[in-house]
Amino acid sequence: MNKPEVLWEITHKCNAKCIHCISGAGDTRNNELTTEEALYICDQLAECSKAIHLLGGEVFLRNDWKKIIERIHSHGMYYSIVTNGIALNREKIKYLKNTGLKNIGISIDAGTAEVNDYIRGVPGLYNKVFEVMDILAEEEMKFTVISTFNKLNIHQVDLMLGNMINSPAKVWQTQGAVAHGRMAKDLALNEFEFYILSLFLSVAKKKISEDILYIAAGHDQGHFSKVIPHYTVHEKWEGCYAGKATFGICSNGDIQGCLCMMSAEDFVLGNVKEKPIKEIYDVENFCSWNHRDEKYKTLKGFCKDCEHGYQCLAGCSSIATALTGTVGENPQCHHRIETEWKTKQPANEFEYLFKELTGGFVDKNGNVFLASGNMLTKSLISKLNLDAHQQKLLSYISNV
Ligand code: SF4
Ligand code: SF4
Repeated sequence: MNKPEVLWEITHKCNAKCIHCISGAGDTRNNELTTEEALYICDQLAECSKAIHLLGGEVFLRNDWKKIIERIHSHGMYYSIVTNGIALNREKIKYLKNTGLKNIGISIDAGTAEVNDYIRGVPGLYNKVFEVMDILAEEEMKFTVISTFNKLNIHQVDLMLGNMINSPAKVWQTQGAVAHGRMAKDLALNEFEFYILSLFLSVAKKKISEDILYIAAGHDQGHFSKVIPHYTVHEKWEGCYAGKATFGICSNGDIQGCLCMMSAEDFVLGNVKEKPIKEIYDVENFCSWNHRDEKYKTLKGFCKDCEHGYQCLAGCSSIATALTGTVGENPQCHHRIETEWKTKQPANEFEYLFKELTGGFVDKNGNVFLASGNMLTKSLISKLNLDAHQQKLLSYISNV
């Protein structure tokens, strides 16, 4: 394995209560790493990793967060932090800048304060994060806004995009909420919402210059579409990164291929309290469940017979396990949706249009065309018998 990037949950303690939190953060775990153990991790990662991404819970709720950061900085390592922003102020941002922080990830999960603060469980957080963004920009600290989509905020995606463009944010990381931890399955996006969100973001990426806003869609945002222009951060999808380019360390010292799977105990690969990190990950069978040949044998259902199966390996393993209970099958896939809708019988006008969309194309200017060759326009949408939810979903695409 080449030197990996390591995501490290330094504490499970959190002062927000996000409904989509995949670790169900809140209280400290029983056996979180001591300061000495955490500093030893920093020393080991300096030898064997190329970047550390600190996250929680909430990073700044660990009493010794400064000691950890100073140890990482003393090694001259690249490091970033993901935070809910509650504890950030100018003084802390200056300190972080002076201790070599390269990027801050900060979350906004809606287009209005009301929805955002409901999702995050913290009154006032939406406005606070916008204030923090202004300070970050003034202090010339690089930052990324992270938005996690679910049924409660999908209807604000157009508002969110506009807010991002009008804010100091330069990078917008988008991802779907995955039903692990505190996230309820029935709040996850369904196939229509997932596909239409992807179409919206890909068209937005075509139309909006990267100098204004770089849309960085995550590992989970669908694969091998013939319709949706490529818009994820990966030039070419070659399967889940867990245990390959990256691994994660939980606040109790457990090592996992990816922290997005941390609520699944079956995927724990060792514990840093028991062995040096290098002895856990630098072995041939590290994260063997994600080795190409082995994982290929586990593919199931549609993924088993998929023409992209060996390359794709059922997409994001975290989503696959959340939706199907196995890493071998993943319904949240553009290729699968497009293939299945070729032969499905639409039950209503919305489904008819969806079928047309999944067989259509997007031109170089970001205009969306249906399989019939007609462009998707507001007037076309208004002629259909749609409910308010469907109308809104479709109107995003024709409005970008
Ligand atoms: S059907 Fe499965 S294997 Fe094929 S592209 Fe989609 S997620 Fe990947
Ligand atoms: S589980 Fe998903 S988020 Fe984690 S490395 Fe794999 S693809 Fe990426």
